[in-house]
Amino acid sequence: MNVSRLTGPPRPLRVGGAPVPVVGRVRMYVCGITPYDVTHLGHAATYLWADLADRVLRWHGHRVTLARNVTDVDDVLYAEARRRGEQATMLATLQRASFEATMATLRVRIPDHSPTAAQSVGYVVQLAAALLERGAAYRVGGTVYARTSGAARAAGVDDARARDLAAEYRDRPDDPDKEHPLDVAVWQAGSGDEVSWPSPWGEGRPGWHAECAAMVLALFGPTVDLHCGGADLAFPHHACEAALAEAATGVHPFARAWLRAGTVHVDGAKMAKSAGNLVLVDDLLRTWSPAAVRMLCLNRPWSQAWDYTPQALDAAAAVLEDLYAAAARAGGESGAPAVSEALREDLDVPRAVQVALEEGGQAARTLVEMLALR
Ligand SMILES: [Zn+2]
Repeated sequence: MNVSRLTGPPRPLRVGGAPVPVVGRVRMYVCGITPYDVTHLGHAATYLWADLADRVLRWHGHRVTLARNVTDVDDVLYAEARRRGEQATMLATLQRASFEATMATLRVRIPDHSPTAAQSVGYVVQLAAALLERGAAYRVGGTVYARTSGAARAAGVDDARARDLAAEYRDRPDDPDKEHPLDVAVWQAGSGDEVSWPSPWGEGRPGWHAECAAMVLALFGPTVDLHCGGADLAFPHHACEAALAEAATGVHPFARAWLRAGTVHVDGAKMAKSAGNLVLVDDLLRTWSPAAVRMLCLNRPWSQAWDYTPQALDAAAAVLEDLYAAAARAGGESGAPAVSEALREDLDVPRAVQVALEEGGQAARTLVEMLALR
């Protein structure tokens, strides 16, 4: 590698091939967990990629303000609490603590802000009011729906697929009160034994997409520089979140760049509790170092789906050993900038690893530091 071509003015972080120029401060938001069960490798991969973007930006001198929310208003959480005979708030608190302990073991930086949906209900009410004011939402009984049917097109998802995904993510496309099946509830009327809060439209609770939109707007204003989450959140969650925020504020874009980490599969199937194929991070950490798990998740193109196998973890651990051996060598000073440049160029870890192994010494130590592999 010819490192001499790397001299010159600093280049911005590139995400998905596009530059995201930032001056000083960076606003980063990561869609967090629904705290109802233990952390699996699919979760960890998403948060490790967000962590790497955060580290690369800070390495290059940026002040990153990082927010990762907690989705503690959710039917899945309530259902799991009922199944266990526990209070939902207690289950959420314990699962969140367990998740955060696992993230700390994986050396994922503690976010500057960890807003929870339950604490952000007032902001969702403000969001719903703004959407109604601007004619982007309508009220049927105690429910406020937003006109988000354009979000699928904007996300490049055709109508039939959009309806399937809306149903899968419980957006109730068959709800007869909606003007359009792909509209989403910003505020959902609720009664009886459901968890609910008061609002100008009666008792109810926020919709999922509206929660994240409201949390971002409340923390960062109308625009965030880098929005992260799993690839499976692209539609409807991220598309509707952006549509709600942009309709409420009139400011485009809501997110300047999206970092959606590729889905983790097992034998070709998405890793999910419902699929019964979870690989739990805490189980892996009984045998493997946090650095090996980081290497497993990060030494690949960030946007591509991948298959977890025990052999892949063996291979990641072997690369890690090679990297440590390379780091113990002398020299490598001239290769160090190429390592940090590779990471700034679309978080290209495979290329950074290749350079670090070839150059050794300081180049390898730089990579160990930037990927938090010590
Ligand atoms: Zn979200």
